[in-house]
Amino acid sequence: MSTVLVTGAAGFIGSNFVRYWRAEHPGDRVVALDALTYAGVRENVEGLDGVEFVHGSIGNTELVEHLLRAHGVDVVVNFAAESHNSLAILRPGDFFATNVMGTQGLLEAVRRVGVGRFHHISTCEVYGDLPLDVDGPGAAFTEDSPYRPRTPYNAAKAGGDHVVRAYGLTYDVPVTITNCANNYGPFQFPEKVIPLFTTRALAGEALPLYASTKNRREWLHVDDHARAIDAVLHHGTVGETYNVGSGVEVDVEGVADTILGALGLGPELKTIVPDRPSHDRRYLLDATKLRSELGWAPQVEWTEGIAATVGWYRANEAWWRPLIGRSPVVEGADQSWGG
Ligand code: NAD
Repeated sequence: MSTVLVTGAAGFIGSNFVRYWRAEHPGDRVVALDALTYAGVRENVEGLDGVEFVHGSIGNTELVEHLLRAHGVDVVVNFAAESHNSLAILRPGDFFATNVMGTQGLLEAVRRVGVGRFHHISTCEVYGDLPLDVDGPGAAFTEDSPYRPRTPYNAAKAGGDHVVRAYGLTYDVPVTITNCANNYGPFQFPEKVIPLFTTRALAGEALPLYASTKNRREWLHVDDHARAIDAVLHHGTVGETYNVGSGVEVDVEGVADTILGALGLGPELKTIVPDRPSHDRRYLLDATKLRSELGWAPQVEWTEGIAATVGWYRANEAWWRPLIGRSPVVEGADQSWGG
């Protein structure tokens, strides 16, 4: 592997992945493509050693085709997406344009030029939601679970996954997909629940908890996500999908309490806001395939990872302060869990 095109590279997971990749594979070059929507932060990747930043859209097939040829790209990793569930309720068209048609435009360039691998980043949310009170074997989503998306974001991600599989089967594009649980870590845009709660708490402002405070998510540190993608790129089977989950579930109240505790604050800042429409109760992934076939396992323990993340936001106000108010969703009235 020598040249990797990372799309959505100025976003949260994409930029963490670029830094991870350069550290783990210093001989590789990275071309970092991003459309710089409100959620893209150029400084997240621009200027990194061995990384060339390109401002552009995955939906621009001609641009991507040019980049693939000019740089001799071997591998494409597609993180680019509209990712904010609450914004999708307000602007569903943007989500289908990017997450479905953008993905198709990107794949079209890949089909024309040819690459060694096209890896697509997807989400647990395509499978729908789970009841809160069912546990044990069979409770979690496997790679064979049916797609049952319930929100415009989830439906658009599901559509993108179908496009990827169709290009794999029809045009022999060597595709792999990972469906990942909710990520947390540094450089996450402060519209998502962990950085939203953290930055609010640091400012002494209210933390808006959705009324269904027992709804919960499965949390994975962004570095463990990067390690999972690395494992799939090096050892995964073309045409396959791998779930990436930690098994660590925490509800929104637990997230708020953990953040407040890490900052030495009490529960007074917690406030209840109405649920968003079709607010999914729970997602949980069965990651047995990734663990048993590729030997992956998460390395970052939740309490340590969240403490480090809160510490990162405390130390990096200069990064997040200018981003407050940039999200088209009114922050504080609403939030997304992750993506
Ligand atoms: P993010 O919103 O932080 O980053 C998305 C990036 O994509 C932004 O930099 C944005 O500018 C860019 N982008 C948007 N439209 C583009 C286009 N047309 N062309 C090029 N770039 C474009 O999101 P994230 O949390 O980093 O998520 C990255 C990917 O991982 C997404 O596909 C998301 O669905 C998926 N995912 C996220 C989570 C999570 O918890 N955050 C979990 C599972 C899967």
